[in-house]
Amino acid sequence: MDNCIFCMIAEGKVPSRKVYEDDDILAFDDIAPQAPIHTLVIPKKHYSNMSDDVGLVALGTIFGAVPKIAELKGVAQGGYRVIVNNGIDANQTVGHLHVHILGGRKMAQGMVTFDGE
Ligand code: AMP
Repeated sequence: MDNCIFCMIAEGKVPSRKVYEDDDILAFDDIAPQAPIHTLVIPKKHYSNMSDDVGLVALGTIFGAVPKIAELKGVAQGGYRVIVNNGIDANQTVGHLHVHILGGRKMAQGMVTFDGE
């Protein structure tokens, strides 16, 4: 997909701090970490988000890699938060499906915040 920063990262055209790679997915550290460990997992194939006909196999591949990547980042034991910002209301800012893995510190309780009614 043209002009997709995560496609460019997957193709090696834009540098990233790679954590894990196989034929289908890439994991790399977030450029603006929100926790001591903040790693993104992306499919190499472009899907805009989880509602983009991703399919069970690809979803399984992406999410199935999360525990392994958490292990590589050293947060499997202590725990970590897994987040997908999916679409406009979730404030997804990069239009290429990605899973956030956040860890390395105790997270605030709760997971949903509202800006209004
Ligand atoms: P989201 O708001 O869920 O779409 O998250 C997008 C994430 O991508 C943000 O946490 C950004 O900091 C991160 N990000 C954007 N560009 C890059 C990049 N070139 N390398 C690594 N992370 C990036």
